[in-house]
Amino acid sequence: MFKSIKFKIWLSIASLLVFIIALMYILQIMSFPAYYEYMKTAEIRKAVDTIEENWYQDNIKEVVSDLAKEKKFYVQIVFTALPSLSFTTNEIGKVSTDTLSKAILQLKGDILTSQEGYIMRALESKEINQKALLYGTVIAKGTDDEAFIFIYNYIQPMGTTTKILESQFFVVTSFIILLSIAISVFISMHISKPIIGINKAAKQLPQGKFNVKIPKGEYLEISELAKTLESAAKEIEKSDIIRKELLSNISHDLRTPLTMIKAYAEMIRDLSGNNPEKREKHLAVIIDETNRLSSLVNDILDLSRLESGSEHFDPTIIDFSKELAEILKRFEILTNNYDFEIEIEENLFIYADKVKIGQVIYNLINNSITYTGQDKKIFVRLYSESGYARFEAQDTGEGIPKEDLPFIWERYYKVQKNGDTHKMGKVGTGLGLSIVKNVLELHHFRYGVKSAVGKGSLFWFEAPIAQLKENSFATEDN
Ligand code: ADP
Repeated sequence: MFKSIKFKIWLSIASLLVFIIALMYILQIMSFPAYYEYMKTAEIRKAVDTIEENWYQDNIKEVVSDLAKEKKFYVQIVFTALPSLSFTTNEIGKVSTDTLSKAILQLKGDILTSQEGYIMRALESKEINQKALLYGTVIAKGTDDEAFIFIYNYIQPMGTTTKILESQFFVVTSFIILLSIAISVFISMHISKPIIGINKAAKQLPQGKFNVKIPKGEYLEISELAKTLESAAKEIEKSDIIRKELLSNISHDLRTPLTMIKAYAEMIRDLSGNNPEKREKHLAVIIDETNRLSSLVNDILDLSRLESGSEHFDPTIIDFSKELAEILKRFEILTNNYDFEIEIEENLFIYADKVKIGQVIYNLINNSITYTGQDKKIFVRLYSESGYARFEAQDTGEGIPKEDLPFIWERYYKVQKNGDTHKMGKVGTGLGLSIVKNVLELHHFRYGVKSAVGKGSLFWFEAPIAQLKENSFATEDN
């Protein structure tokens, strides 16, 4: 609960709110008296500026009295040379003029000795227990017109004002708190709702329901999360389908030869055991099927090791020409039945894993033999071309329809044909080209197939020719 997005969002908003309220309280309520005093001082200074500006005007007396009335100031102007011209505007009311006169008298002496030429003093009036500001300055100092300006002004008692402010503050704060609780609950629910929805949908994936609709919501990040999940679900679905297909393919491929082996073994036991000719024939079928089983199991193992990346990859510089000639020797028993045309350029060295590349060459030649046409022709070529050693295995068979071409490299893919055209009477596992593809991609070699229906296919790959240093050449030769 405390770790939920809902709670965290709510908590962040609430903390922000508390912070703002505290800040407002400090600024507004606590600093209010100081701020008020500052404003008052500024007001008095401004009034003095106005008086000084109008000092030589004829209506100076009027200006002063208007100002005093407007601002509720007590202003006293005292001329040094002509005391009779001095005047006061008395808006002061409450405080005794006596107290004031004394204060003013004292201030006068201080002004003349002060450096700034003016003094601002806070007075505490005992009779009414009230604070006031007394300001005094001298104007036209040292001339015949020299005069003192005194301004006296109450500072309003802050108690009531502060109380009013405080109660207002309380009302506003309560309102804001309620509003923000509502807003934060709304926002947090709005944000967490699609996430909860996504989670609910995602929980269905492990149950195999891959086509669940994942809710997107209106937030960019959340809808991206939903999209990612959706595409992940699609991928899982795909690999789930592949896994199921693979399983059924493998079990099918295992069952067929097993059924054959069992049937022929039973036949030998029950019927042909004493007939050497028939028995030999039946045993040959059993051996054939066993071979098929073991090559199927080997292919599956190879492929799964390659695909999982656990296969050991050990590239060295190898003599491709020599390697190819070696592999072709394995097909020698077929030379009576098949017409091999072989062109091998000598001394082509490449950097590759010897065993794996051998497997690729073997699979490609094997396919050409398996799928070649009536003329039983097979072409095997190795030659250099612009820095690459190019290998080709070509046959004259039925070729591969265009629409099948992109898929032949996938495991278990077999081109659908009318009737079995497998010349060697052997049904392929559908894994050979998949192994070829995996090995070539592991080496980063280019590869491909050219095929025309009715004319045959040409499978090829290209490996960069390795630049040999003297000693590595020697190592390879030894
Ligand atoms: P398989 O064991 O069935 O030969 P592969 O993975 O080697 O499996 O090949 C996949 C499919 O591609 C084959 O079933 C076949 O239909 C097609 N194919 C492969 N090589 C050739 C070829 N040389 N000529 C025609 N079709 C081919």
